[in-house]
Amino acid sequence: MVYCAAPSQTQHPTWSSRHSWFVHQSVIDIQLQLKPLKLPFWVQELEFIQFLELLQPWFQINTIYTHYFAVMQHSRKALNEVEQFCTQHHITLTQLPHNGLLPNQSAPLPPGQPAPNWLEHFKNHLKQPLFNPNLNLIQTPHLPAPLTQQLHQYTPAKNWGKPDKTFKPDLPFLQPGATHAQHLLHTFLQHRASGYKKNQTSAHLSQTSGSRLSAHLTFGNISLKQIWQQIRLQNTPKALQPALTAFKSNLLRRAYALQLFEMHPQLEYQNFNYAVNGIRLKWNQDVFDTLLAAQTGFPLIDAAMRCLIQTGFINHRLRTLVMAFITNHLWLDWRKATPVLAQLMTDFEPALFFWHTQTAANCTGLEPIFLPDPAAEAKLTDKTGIFIKQWLPVFAHTPGGLCGNPALMSALEQQLYHLEIGKHYPKPMVNLTTTTQYALANLQRIYQKNLAKKETARLASVLPLPAF
Ligand SMILES: Cc1cc2nc3c(=O)[nH]c(=O)nc-3n(C[C@H](O)[C@H](O)[C@H](O)COP(=O)(O)OP(=O)(O)OC[C@H]3O[C@@H](n4cnc5c(N)ncnc54)[C@H](O)[C@@H]3O)c2cc1C
Repeated sequence: MVYCAAPSQTQHPTWSSRHSWFVHQSVIDIQLQLKPLKLPFWVQELEFIQFLELLQPWFQINTIYTHYFAVMQHSRKALNEVEQFCTQHHITLTQLPHNGLLPNQSAPLPPGQPAPNWLEHFKNHLKQPLFNPNLNLIQTPHLPAPLTQQLHQYTPAKNWGKPDKTFKPDLPFLQPGATHAQHLLHTFLQHRASGYKKNQTSAHLSQTSGSRLSAHLTFGNISLKQIWQQIRLQNTPKALQPALTAFKSNLLRRAYALQLFEMHPQLEYQNFNYAVNGIRLKWNQDVFDTLLAAQTGFPLIDAAMRCLIQTGFINHRLRTLVMAFITNHLWLDWRKATPVLAQLMTDFEPALFFWHTQTAANCTGLEPIFLPDPAAEAKLTDKTGIFIKQWLPVFAHTPGGLCGNPALMSALEQQLYHLEIGKHYPKPMVNLTTTTQYALANLQRIYQKNLAKKETARLASVLPLPAF
């Protein structure tokens, strides 16, 4: 067996050593499972097309099976090359359904034929039986010596799979491997889900009371179908049923985002709603660096950035807040900010990432204009300041209610709590009243135009959001 770590993927600006680490450790998990079968396993740093070209002179390839994925431009290009190779060499390329994704139909449908309904298709996919291959029946061909020698040239460098030094994943919640994905799902369905709904709003508790399956779903350690069928099979305590309903809604949201990305791959590089094309034209690297250094002067944002940089994970609400802050209050273009944030998120999944980024940046027009205030958000999601204190120890002596909004502290309080603003912790990098007014005025002006209204209505009809 061979795992191809394709340079087109691992050298892409959205990829980082955290992703290589997660993949590498997941591959080791597969190797451990295959050990009793004594099946050889290779990890190679080469494009899949290169691998096929190496195999071609030695083996007759009849069929290639792949999963059907909604992918970014660079992966689409790599897939197209494989498709061409297959055509040239009379190889059948079979794409297996995955995530219930409905292939984007570029050709017009025959008259009278209704457009396929992705939601029905997805629900039907979830009911299909799981593949349970008998691993004992796998036969691996003997590799000729010259081919083995060629493959050795593509052995990954020694540091491949080693994460950056700043990365300290919150194990066991980010433990790679299919075995761990199954374990996380089991503990979630048995007891961890108990606070799921309520804790989604808590910056601190949601770190552990979510399923934490996102990275596993991204890298294929577990599938939506496996999760769905486990939910039905496991005898989950009755008290957890409302939590499971909310969890299933989120899984459906995932499927929706994947389908949308399949239909709108340009979400990766283009504003979803073209009406906002003329805004945020100036990039300011210093401003962005201040955010990356967690020195914005807005404690919840800075705490979230520190948590993300160290653990590779923050919850949904914090992701929304950070992205909305970058694009609306700092008025920076999401396209320049996203590669760095994608590198930091261990679970980076383009479909979910770009869709939610564009929503937070008010670039879809499909949601009411959203301009969150980090201090108000802290009041809701970190009432006691526990999350802020964890990531910004300078707030250790500050009463919980003041952590999210240190501007409320008098000079005396600042002295009392050993937190002088401007000395121990930075002043806010922007005036939020001004940035809110500026963003609101610009966005309202754009979205009130007839052309924008028309485009928003058109976009809303392309793939209507199902009831979650
Ligand atoms: C700006 C931004 C960027 C994001 N980027 C990513 C990303 O790169 N990869 C990623 O997996 N998720 C992303 N999300 C969605 C969401 O924040 C994460 O899936 C979630 O926090 C993962 O935690 P969990 O596995 O404990 O989720 P749970 O709450 O346990 O949910 C289970 C699964 O459902 C899916 N899911 C949950 N919430 C949503 C949602 N609102 N929309 C779509 N699917 C959802 C995820 O696959 C998740 O693993 C992003 C959200 C925002 C706002």
